[in-house]
Amino acid sequence: MGKKLKNDKYFLDLAYKEAEKAYKKGEVPVGAVVVCNGKVISKAHNLRQTKKNPLYHAEILAIQKASKKLKSWRLDDCILYITLEPCLMCAGVIMQSRIKKVIFSAEDKKAGVVLNNFKVFDEKNLPFKIEYSFISDEKAINILKNFFKEKRNEKNNNIDNDINTIFYTSKRDKKS
Ligand SMILES: [Zn+2]
Repeated sequence: MGKKLKNDKYFLDLAYKEAEKAYKKGEVPVGAVVVCNGKVISKAHNLRQTKKNPLYHAEILAIQKASKKLKSWRLDDCILYITLEPCLMCAGVIMQSRIKKVIFSAEDKKAGVVLNNFKVFDEKNLPFKIEYSFISDEKAINILKNFFKEKRNEKNNNIDNDINTIFYTSKRDKKS
């Protein structure tokens, strides 16, 4: 009785709170939450810089924690909420974990592979069927914009002008 119905918006907000934690650590602000049957199983944020590890994207850490907690690599009853469209590495892990559905709130035109680029979850030849949904959220988009705006100021205009499209990629990552 009196239990508040938790919807996608609620869980995306939790993911956003994780993104804020990443932001405070100077990390690209991305957060992820794994939810199973309406229950939060794990939360995580990007720690790539802090841990000096290219695998430490928010969604991978959230999946890892969820598997540990549920004692199973298979998360087929779970929904993954992310503040940013997953990259190719994370899409692969999402498929391997058999997550039922992915919901994210900002597009990554450069490195995202769900709505953009390879559109991997639409690929008919893959054996893993992952549902997805994009629920645009200004907060999730703005925190990324602010992060890159700050970085750009720090680096004296040395980063791409289009702050909408860098996210996990930066000028440093590109071969010149
Ligand atoms: Zn990723």
